[in-house]
Amino acid sequence: MLFSELGLSESILRAITEHGYTSPTPIQSQSIPAVLKGGDLLAGAQTGTGKTAGFTLPVLHRLSSSPRSNPANYRPIRALILTPTRELAAQVEESVRVYGKYTKLTSAVMFGGVGINPQIATLKKGVDILVATPGRLLDHMQQGNINLKHIEILVLDEADRMLDMGFIRDIKKILAALPAQRQNLLFSATFSDEIKALADRLLNSPAMIEV
Ligand code: AMP
Repeated sequence: MLFSELGLSESILRAITEHGYTSPTPIQSQSIPAVLKGGDLLAGAQTGTGKTAGFTLPVLHRLSSSPRSNPANYRPIRALILTPTRELAAQVEESVRVYGKYTKLTSAVMFGGVGINPQIATLKKGVDILVATPGRLLDHMQQGNINLKHIEILVLDEADRMLDMGFIRDIKKILAALPAQRQNLLFSATFSDEIKALADRLLNSPAMIEV
């Protein structure tokens, strides 16, 4: 299978080709068409399978093919990607930048342990795609720095690790601040009862894939 058969736009295909990818990995060939359809997704995938491109590519496609007419000086956040660790957040946002370089979409990454003021400045301007760890995102919510009312797509990456790290309460508070109408993608390497309960609560008739 080729990337060009998956329904992704030319601007995204160009970035993928430049990055040196020729064909999608198994998770990508399943997750990309599923996410492009607009429904929810439950994906069982380990790191190293190419799961990051499996969600970042179709998220970029969906946002760039339905542009928002924003006020010139502010972009509401349209996609929120939550990850358990800073390292993963940084990696995911790097992928968003690389694959999205020929789209007009903007992104930012936010995690704890670094100064909050530059993040507040970024949030004031707004970005299309925010990658964050739950704790720092909640700090921004509690300080009134962030508006999550325009989120169209939510991604929970490595959801099992987020639960293992004790983020479930933060995640529930974040979910409560999102608009009801949105697309939800949940990626997890393992499926404990706790993950299944979260998936039940979060996902609407999800497509299910496992690699
Ligand atoms: P991930 O599972 O998302 O952390 O990706 C694992 C590694 O596979 C990363 O180094 C990616 O750059 C690489 N990768 C992802 N998709 C592809 C692809 N379609 N072709 C070749 N390498 C890929």
